[in-house]
Amino acid sequence: MDTLLDKRKFYIDGQWVDPARANDLEVVDPSNEEAVAVISLGGQEDTDAAVAAAKAAFPAWSRTSPTERLGYVEKILEIYERRAGDMAWAISHEMGAPQDMSLAAQVGAGRGHIKNFIKAFKEFEFIRPLGDHAPTTMVAWEPIGVVGLITPWNWPMNQVTLKVIPALLAGDTVVLKPSEIAPLSSMVFAEYLDEAGLPKGVFNLVNGDGAGVGTQLSTHEDVEMISFTGSTRAGIAISKAAADTLKKVVLELGGKGANIVFADADDKAVIRGAQHCFNNSGQSCNAPTRMLVERSAYDRAVETAAKVAEETSVATAHQSGNHIGPVVSKQQWDKIQGLIQAGIDEGARLAAGGPGLPEGVNRGYFVRPTVFADVRNDMTIAQQEIFGPVLSIIPFDDEEQAVAIANDTPYGLTNYVQTQDGAKRNRVARQLRAGMIEMNGESRGAGSAFGGVKMSGRAREGGVMGLEEFMDSKFISGWDRDAG
Ligand code: NAD
Repeated sequence: MDTLLDKRKFYIDGQWVDPARANDLEVVDPSNEEAVAVISLGGQEDTDAAVAAAKAAFPAWSRTSPTERLGYVEKILEIYERRAGDMAWAISHEMGAPQDMSLAAQVGAGRGHIKNFIKAFKEFEFIRPLGDHAPTTMVAWEPIGVVGLITPWNWPMNQVTLKVIPALLAGDTVVLKPSEIAPLSSMVFAEYLDEAGLPKGVFNLVNGDGAGVGTQLSTHEDVEMISFTGSTRAGIAISKAAADTLKKVVLELGGKGANIVFADADDKAVIRGAQHCFNNSGQSCNAPTRMLVERSAYDRAVETAAKVAEETSVATAHQSGNHIGPVVSKQQWDKIQGLIQAGIDEGARLAAGGPGLPEGVNRGYFVRPTVFADVRNDMTIAQQEIFGPVLSIIPFDDEEQAVAIANDTPYGLTNYVQTQDGAKRNRVARQLRAGMIEMNGESRGAGSAFGGVKMSGRAREGGVMGLEEFMDSKFISGWDRDAG
């Protein structure tokens, strides 16, 4: 790249403005380790200006009709679809998703969420009776106020749309702080919202890091809610920082998904599980990173998963194809290498991949798709979120042991079950401690919420629950139903 994109402005009160103080940060393209853009890290004055704009915009925005807010979001969807190419480019260059995957999956995830929210919103009743037993008691759903949204780099538009869209539909006003590692997609998104003509101050974007703008939003007395997606470490820090102002805190955190493969699973179960683990270079919170395989099918599963790893090609995000790209940064690359080494040191058997760069690569943060066999669930690689293309395979002897191993983790986001025995599948699903269970490769239906339990946080994003998350419920008795 000859010229660095200058992306130093913030979007506050309906316009692009300079930061109060210069504090530049380069955005590095993980495919070639070259700076692609320069942004600013904001400070307290920038955060205060964005929150003040959102606060001033709230009274009028919260009183707009649902139809009016729906109209804006439909306009945003139209622009999102028209400018999908710009978004795919930004995501590829900031976090390394290969260009075809970026357009189809990364940009596609955001489009799907916007559409699903529109559908849920059209059917949403803002005020409804509690039930037949209490016909004059009503449940009213009302906007919360100024919401601070803090997002990660791994599925940037997936996360941003899961927060910004329901917040706008609910009648909240927004300050978004995207990941400082992958801020470009959010700046493209801010352009869409600007073009959609939202009233000034309804949506604001300030770039910054966790210690700065992230903490300033979490502690701000005029911010009524923080919706956060990212690491468990940061989720804990935000909860503590937010405690003094007793704001609502919603957390979507890490995961260490178990994929329980029984011997009677369909032929494709292992291939599907390994491919899912390597997708997005392993950088998905819901990745099935622990494959638990029934002993009689174990050796064949290890062989199959190793073959998938060997057949998964790794290449620059700038080229077309179905390969995986680099991981996001040098810091992540180092962390993943350390964990691969820990797997070897603790006695897991390397069935494919391993440490170092893929053959023939000397630039970019590329990781070899790696499969470990004979993993014990107490090993570091089975307990810690690796966030790279690394699969751990663990044998089990019976259903009870499989459930025990799956649940033996601090996390509880997504688990997976593979068996053709319907009764067993249902039984296991009910015993797994997680917010989501996906079985036999069937995706959860549109409108399902995304979220976890335990150290994965307890948010519910998407669909009707994802709308309600951005509203307060109010219970009113003595309602005159004839008065309307
Ligand atoms: P991260 O926690 O380092 O950063 C996420 C965001 O939080 C960034 O915008 C960052 O600037 C900000 N942040 C960091 N420290 C903060 C603090 N103390 N106060 C306020 N804000 C702070 O995470 P990451 O490395 O960007 O993302 C990877 C993590 O996100 C993984 O653990 C992954 O599992 C998790 N994740 C979870 C989900 C989910 O829905 N459960 C989805 C995607 C990613």
